[in-house]
Parts: sequence; C-alpha cells; structure tokens
Amino acid sequence: MRRVKADAGRRYRAYPTRDQDEVLTGWGHTARALWNVALEQRVYLWEQRRYTLRSAEQCKFLTAARTDLDWIGDLPAQAGQQILRSLDRAYDNFWNPNNPARFPARKKRGHRLSVPFPGQAVEVRKLNRKWAEVRLPKLGWLRFRLSRAMGGTIRNATVSCDGNGWHISFGVHTGRKPKAPNGKPACGVDFGVAASAFVSTETTPRLMPPSLTVNERWRLKALEQRKARQVTYTKKHNGGRYGRRLCTTIAQITKLTTRRANRRADFTHKLTTDLAKNHGLIGIEDLRVKNMTASAQGTPEAPGKNVRAKSGLNRSILDNAPGERRRQLEYKTRMYGSVLVTVPPFHTSQTCAQCGRVDPESRKGCGRLFACTRCGHEDDADHNASVEIEARARRTGGSDINSTRSIPRMRVPATGRRRMREAPKPAHTS
Ligand SMILES: [Zn+2]
Repeated sequence: MRRVKADAGRRYRAYPTRDQDEVLTGWGHTARALWNVALEQRVYLWEQRRYTLRSAEQCKFLTAARTDLDWIGDLPAQAGQQILRSLDRAYDNFWNPNNPARFPARKKRGHRLSVPFPGQAVEVRKLNRKWAEVRLPKLGWLRFRLSRAMGGTIRNATVSCDGNGWHISFGVHTGRKPKAPNGKPACGVDFGVAASAFVSTETTPRLMPPSLTVNERWRLKALEQRKARQVTYTKKHNGGRYGRRLCTTIAQITKLTTRRANRRADFTHKLTTDLAKNHGLIGIEDLRVKNMTASAQGTPEAPGKNVRAKSGLNRSILDNAPGERRRQLEYKTRMYGSVLVTVPPFHTSQTCAQCGRVDPESRKGCGRLFACTRCGHEDDADHNASVEIEARARRTGGSDINSTRSIPRMRVPATGRRRMREAPKPAHTS
C-alpha cells in the first residue's frame, strides 16, 4: 500500500480540562527530554563507532527505556515513536545537499511544548457546528474549536502550547489535484528588508504594518524592564530560583511576543495568498536564508566585524520570513493554478531592468534609488530588482504567459535625484 502523505495543515485552538492540562504539560516536557536524549544517543554512536542510528532501530531502545523509566513510560508509545521519526526528518534536512539545514538542535527548557501523534493513534468526532473533539491515547477526548472544516483524512496530530494557550494541529491528506493554469499576468517579487515585498506590477511596496500597537510596545518594554529587575533580585536573594512573580512577568511577555508573531504570520499568509491567486507566474529570488543570516560573530581567533549590526539585520530578515514565504508560495501556487519560478539571485539589485547593464555604480546613492550608468534609467531600487526578477523568471519559466504587459514607470522623488547627483561617493565603503 502506498502511504498517503499529509498535503495540508489545520490548526485549532484546544481547550483541555484542568487535569488534561496537567497531563499534557508533563508529556510536553517528557517529549522535549526524549528528543534531547535520542539526539545525544545518535551523536554518541556516530562519534564512537561512526554508526548512523535511525528511528526504526532507536524505537527498540525506546521500548526498553519505557519499561525501565517511569517518566518515559508515562508518555504514550506512539508519541515517542513519532518524536524519533521527526528526528529522522531533522537529520534528512541536515543532509539535504540542495538546501542543508542546521544540525538538529537540543530543545532547551522553555522551548514550546509539543506532543506529536501519528494519525492512526487519534480519532476526531464533531460535536456541533463549532466544536469537535479528538481522542488522544491515554488522555481521552480533548475539545477544540472547529474554526474551519478538516476536509481530508488525518495523517498526524500535534498538541502544542504557546503563549496563547493550547492548540491542536493536524496534517491532513486532502487529495486535491493542482489547479489548471489560471492565465493571469506574471510578476516578479523582491522580498526586501526595509520594504516587505515589492511586486513588479505595482508602484508601491507592500509594507508589513507594525505588528504591535504603540501601547503594546510600551507595555512590552515595561515588562522587559520588570523582568530584568526581578532576575537581578532573584540572583541576589533567591539563589537564582524563579519565583511566582517572575514567572508571571515572563508569561505576560510571552503572550505579547506570541501576539506579535501571529500578526506577522497573518501578514505573510495574506501576502502569499494574494500573490498566488492573482498572478499566473511568480518569480522570486533563490535565496539561501541560512547563508544570508549567518552570524557575523566569527571565531575567537578571527572575530567578525559589525556583529551587532549584522545580528540586527538577521533579525529583520528572519522577521520577514523569506523561507516561510517561499514555502507558502510553493503550495499556494499549486492551489490557485499559478507557477512559482526561483531565479538565481546574483546582482538583481545592480542590474538595470531596462538595458540589462550590471554595475554596482548604479546603486551609488546608497539610498533606495537606482540610476543606470549606461541608459540613465531611474527607478526605486527594489522595484527595479523585482522587474529584473520577473524578466529572469520569464526566461527560465513561462515565456508563454502574458508577456506583452508594459512595465510601469516609477516616479522618482526629486530629492532622491538631487541626492544621487550630489553624492558621487557612497559613504559606507572603506
Ligand atoms: Zn540601463
């Protein structure tokens, strides 16, 4: 029998009873510890004997450990096995030659609690139009808010807890076929750091709105100051043990940061849905996020330069989630009948979209302005890059898709022009 894979995800807010909450919290910590122990065993076996341990074999160790150790035996067996399988996947991503991920990381205390289950271990039943419940091994029925239809067979389920409370997410096999080409126009998208995204068919960038209100930002700052104060106090008078008040402060901070993350995720989803729905071909840069956001710290022998600045840039790159946007575009283009084309990212920001001249001098004003040194074409630098990305995507991907559209010219602010002329030397080059 061919295994049917999950091709869509569903996430619902779960409402455990007080007893269930306690059990799930315990399992969450066990799951985290099991991940760490299993990872350590694999690393140890590789270092000692150059032996690669996979989940099929490691499951036998797990079975033995479950009879010996109460705290592991408490976690449902299927959940333990699922954790070992996800460790396999983490290793596979690490070994993937095309886009290698980082080495599987240990999960620290305070990591998001999550307990995975295979699809065979769970059962879902609908209670009414708005509520449903899922039966988990050794826990019983867990109620969740049915905010959207499941629409497929369940392949896996994960219970998790973040700053906003418990959630249950399902991997679902919908069996949906990719849609026929939608015949809409092509576009290129430049995902920037300052502007969230510049679409080649538009004249203004799509900016991410501020993810926290002014009041929320004030509150977050105040809470962080309070936390710092309480940590100092704890170290001085309490032997470093976290007290009740400090834990409350941390929970309040987590709630705000979770809210911020949710709003950013919401923006990303709306952006990618809009792109996939209203375009026939989408060109994006094939960026290696891991390389882009590599730390500038360097080694003790050769310390890096501008470490703080680079870490700030990394944060803004990761906030804008380029890898996540690409992942979403990959499945949403299939859903809405468009094509995603990744193009080589080399010199997109230095290439003139009008005549094709590649020249770093064209970006001389070191602002957001592009001025070609050959043909004098002037444009917003990010828009110019997006047009170039679109052209590259057309060459590699879909030359048949609506290629007669004229490219909108940008209105360049006069001050920018003057700045370009008056500043022949970029200030930041050494
Ligand atoms: Zn030019």
